[in-house]
Amino acid sequence: MIELSSPINGIEGFSNRITALFKIDYPIIQAGMIWASGWKLASAVSNAGGLGLIGSGSMYPDVLREHIQKCIAATPRSFGVNVPLLYPDIEKHIQIIIDEGVKIVFTSAGNPKTWTSILKEKGITVVHVVSSSKFARKAEEAGCDAVVAEGFEAGGHNGREETTTMVLVPAVINAVKIPVIAAGGIATGRQMLAVMVMGAEGVQMGSRFVVSEEASSHINFKNAVINSFEGDTILTMKQLTPVRIFKNKFYQQMHEAEIKGASVEELKELLGRARAKRGMFEGNLEEGELEIGQVSANLNDILPAAKIVDEVWKEFKEALANPLKNI
Ligand code: NDP
Ligand code: NDP
Repeated sequence: MIELSSPINGIEGFSNRITALFKIDYPIIQAGMIWASGWKLASAVSNAGGLGLIGSGSMYPDVLREHIQKCIAATPRSFGVNVPLLYPDIEKHIQIIIDEGVKIVFTSAGNPKTWTSILKEKGITVVHVVSSSKFARKAEEAGCDAVVAEGFEAGGHNGREETTTMVLVPAVINAVKIPVIAAGGIATGRQMLAVMVMGAEGVQMGSRFVVSEEASSHINFKNAVINSFEGDTILTMKQLTPVRIFKNKFYQQMHEAEIKGASVEELKELLGRARAKRGMFEGNLEEGELEIGQVSANLNDILPAAKIVDEVWKEFKEALANPLKNI
């Protein structure tokens, strides 16, 4: 049931289980992304009425603490931290999140059982990112407050089963009672409306916010994103951790090694260390790992984060009033 709430930035807000859970105006969430989403991006999205997330996966513990403190200083509104459960220093990250009084945590890439109850005991709202209805049920059983159903189109870490957002979102909605946030292939208000018609109560967008002015990603990477086309990304490295990236020279090398039957150890050696940093943060478009979603093909401009939130919300409302574009 859609209810319009008090206006912010001159646009009417919105009220459902997701806006109530996070105390936000619009059910628009900026994904936690390594090397792209520090406190500048997260606070800008939160100040614009959405929910910003600090992507902690690329941060040493002290760096994370600094970003949380700066985010608290930069916004009086809700924000959260994304914690990839594969992270090597996860205990330290969780302790910092608790010590610094973070109220919202999105976990991803792993089993939500271990950390959800510990975070919930501290009064933290916990959301888990899933790629199947089986994982969604596990997240609900673990006590999560909501799930992000992230489809095949999404950038970065992704499920092995290649379930698209169009199929995953209804499957997850049927599987759980907690609210579902859709992700993967969403960057515009019309794409947002499409998943909300299927029953999602919010959207999480990554790629759209990679090409924001506040994202810490390198300008070379941002330019590559806005100049890309359909077919430029691929879900790869399934023998290691499945990840959607641009098909650049680094990808070709990994792909050729896989075709030749390289072992997991050989692939790890070829991957080496800090490939993601080299690509997305340092801007080496040939040798780096460039994590991005398929929706990059729909993106043509680098905008301030607040304008992105504003444009998506305006288009969503216009589309809601007039959903069938060509009739
Ligand atoms: P690598 O092992 O190749 O490199 C580690 C990178 O992470 C380095 O660039 C390093 O920075 C940085 N880093 C931050 N904290 C630590 C730490 N405590 N120990 C070691 N290195 C650290 O890993 P990846 O770059 O492939 O992945 C790094 C992390 O990001 C993993 O935890 C992974 O799960 C997560 N991740 C999250 C994604 C998401 O979408 N949320 C997507 C992909 C990965 P420096 O070079 O400055 O030492
Ligand atoms: P495993 O695949 O061996 O998983 C280890 C344990 O975690 C298993 O018990 C597995 O459940 C469970 N698990 C894995 N992912 C999830 C999840 N998203 N939600 C709930 N439970 C989960 O190895 P890793 O721990 O290294 O995890 C990597 C896995 O996570 C890969 O399979 C990858 O496809 C998936 N992944 C999913 C993401 C997403 O949700 N969008 C993001 C990144 C990775 P069980 O054995 O019962 O299947």
